[in-house]
Amino acid sequence: MNHVSSFFAPIAALRPSACPGLFRIVQALDGGLCRLKLPCGELSAEQARAIADAVDAHASGVIEVTNRANLQLRGVRAGHENALIERLLHAGLGPQGPFADDETNPIARDDIRNLMVSPLAGRDPHALFDVTPLASQILALLQNDPRFTALSPKFALMLDGGERLAMLGHPHDIWLAAVRDLDEVRFVFGLAGCPPVRTNVRERSEGPASKALASVLPHQVPPLVNALLHTFLDLAAPDDSRMRDVLATHGVETVLQLAQSRVDFTLARDIRSDAWCRFPADESLRLGSHPQINTGLSYIGGQPKLGRIDVPMLKGLAQLASDVGNATLRMTPWQGVLIPDIASENTPQALKRLESLGLAVSTSDPLTHLIACTGSQGCLKGMADTKADALLLAARLPAHVDVHLSGCPRSCAAAHCAPWTLLAVAPAHYDLYRRDGTPGFGERVAQHLTIEQAADSLERLTRRSFDA
Ligand code: SF4
Repeated sequence: MNHVSSFFAPIAALRPSACPGLFRIVQALDGGLCRLKLPCGELSAEQARAIADAVDAHASGVIEVTNRANLQLRGVRAGHENALIERLLHAGLGPQGPFADDETNPIARDDIRNLMVSPLAGRDPHALFDVTPLASQILALLQNDPRFTALSPKFALMLDGGERLAMLGHPHDIWLAAVRDLDEVRFVFGLAGCPPVRTNVRERSEGPASKALASVLPHQVPPLVNALLHTFLDLAAPDDSRMRDVLATHGVETVLQLAQSRVDFTLARDIRSDAWCRFPADESLRLGSHPQINTGLSYIGGQPKLGRIDVPMLKGLAQLASDVGNATLRMTPWQGVLIPDIASENTPQALKRLESLGLAVSTSDPLTHLIACTGSQGCLKGMADTKADALLLAARLPAHVDVHLSGCPRSCAAAHCAPWTLLAVAPAHYDLYRRDGTPGFGERVAQHLTIEQAADSLERLTRRSFDA
């Protein structure tokens, strides 16, 4: 049963042999680290089983969901890299498109598909537009034009259909968002930032807003993206990897004028797009069970402990998705998982099974308020074992306080600024930062805290801000 469109290719498209250039495996303290880009976070149950088997045979068994809804396979054993890659390719994972089998062609890169959509795209009852067909077109665009291989793996795009469940705090090089304009839907777009959000509440995830520059009709979105990508590459100096670099040198007007010259429709620049703000998202919808737009269907969502999935859990998720859903999983940018397309009457039972696999399914679980990078157990730069410390903190975390533990200032676990950040400065010791809208982690409010002291400080500081 498949009720909405899918992003992944069928497993039938087997590749003849392992092509080591097609995946990036980098060395980490705990072995090889294989990054696996999922098209819009989607994974079939069959692919999930294949990953679980591959990890079981060739790696440590630790699978991480990333904050861009992709997977990282940790602890790849030395000498097992090709065997792991061969299994992944045979599962239909990795690069797609006309150059996908050509290891020598730089377009055969898994990390080119850096497009984020809501994990509920096409299913969210509150969405203004089903972006799944447009997302497929943009993914094809990225994979089929050899020039786009010059884009940095970090160059990121976002396509927002106006879903209530959306990650709005990650800055993107290009973002597009659906807006209702009288009787039609248009897409506004912005560069180097996040869509501006109408806020009277502080969001869990916040990023630097960049205002909407202009708008286009839905069918004009793929050619607009194409024009913006080529414009970026036309203007970028050799060291410019992100849109903000090009804006700093050339300014936004130059980018817009060049993009306009590459399309045969008008980039509508009016006061309405200039003043546009998106309505806030509700990130709690990533957990528990909720109805979809599709009549009689619901989805369930959960969060594995600190974004880590092991082999039995991944196999269990695949089985659950096959038993009750449409045999697909959706990874989320909150390092969690959704199982969509469940007959609504079956969701209570499905949610129990999800919980029994070890996933948190409610915001009352402190682990849904904590993120932590790999830390010193897997990363040379890590000043502390952030994962272990996060578990200690979970036992004493004040209710509904969101904290990010980072092993160093690189902030790998969070592309956004969390309300509170514990930055490791020594083993088991952290400086505490409070988000205040300034770049980085915000204002440093305490130094060199143990986890117990950090819990006490958070208790005191959050009580004071709730009281205020
Ligand atoms: S934030 Fe620093 S310590 Fe943590 S994974 Fe990234 S580089 Fe390593």
